[in-house]
Amino acid sequence: MVSDGQTIAGGEWYPPGSSGRVIATLVSYPDGISAVSAEGTRLSSGAFAGLSISARVGDIPRRINFADGSLFETADNAAIDAFLKNAGRRHAGWVHLLEEFHPRIFVFAALVILLAIGIYRYALPLLVEIAVLVTPPVVPQMMSSGTLNTLDTTVLSVSDVPQARQTEITERFMRIAGATQEGTAGYMLNFRDGGAIGPNAFALPDGNIVITDQLIELADGDDEMISGVLAHEIGHVEYKHSLRQLYRAAGMAALVMLTAGDVGSGVEDIMTQGGGLLALSYSRSAESQADRRSVELMRASGMDPLAIARFFEELEDRLGDHSGTSMLSTHPGTPERRQAIVDYAKSLEGR
Ligand SMILES: [Zn+2]
Repeated sequence: MVSDGQTIAGGEWYPPGSSGRVIATLVSYPDGISAVSAEGTRLSSGAFAGLSISARVGDIPRRINFADGSLFETADNAAIDAFLKNAGRRHAGWVHLLEEFHPRIFVFAALVILLAIGIYRYALPLLVEIAVLVTPPVVPQMMSSGTLNTLDTTVLSVSDVPQARQTEITERFMRIAGATQEGTAGYMLNFRDGGAIGPNAFALPDGNIVITDQLIELADGDDEMISGVLAHEIGHVEYKHSLRQLYRAAGMAALVMLTAGDVGSGVEDIMTQGGGLLALSYSRSAESQADRRSVELMRASGMDPLAIARFFEELEDRLGDHSGTSMLSTHPGTPERRQAIVDYAKSLEGR
């Protein structure tokens, strides 16, 4: 039936714009490729280069599109692959290659993971820094008031510390704030009953710092210890640690959601619902940065630079390692950390 051509594969031919199928054979002639009917009629022809041959995906039938809009379809993938290989045109398709050679899937997966790690380690920190740089002051202000409002309606309540005592602590706080670049106008101390979060102090990105009654109680009249903790919190504000943490979390969520296909809402939640702010603990390097800042600011304000180290010691001694207080979990007072504070204070001596 097909005398002067070489049969490639059997299948069906569909005329342009029609679903009526014709049993046909794909045949290679010296002048091109044709779909040939059982009667030997060349139904459609075209140069090899002008054909569009679908890539192989498992056992899905292959489609060969002719320039005239007609279509030849065959389930004989192996025959098409053999023909393409012969014709010197690798057209098996990468999807099929992945299916056939499983190690490639692992290589592919490894590459994707490497890319994600690369974004996480290099691109994300850079984007975070840029975001911090271009953030207008109104953003940390909104985050802060949102967070404080949320906390006030959930865990925190009005402080029981007498006004006179609050004034004493605030005066020392303002001495420290006066030693910063922003000055006293950049910071505000807020007193609250900590409720479930117990002895704690935390900084909001706009310079508002919250201290709980339980922390003041824990300090047991050691006002320099309280000041050391507050200086540490001021350090977090100065270095914009919470803003960075927040952007980082938002970036991570965006990364995850990009792969899941939905970017919008989760990021928005993180950025607008201040509660996330507290759930994030600072990195170890952020903590030691704030520790060093506490040493510097306490020194500049004429108070004991080692007060912050003493505080961590007290906290561990009195509450133990298993108290589960959030202050300890976000501020682990390891011996190494205390030693680093002592070493840093020493290095500043005589300057
Ligand atoms: Zn801290």
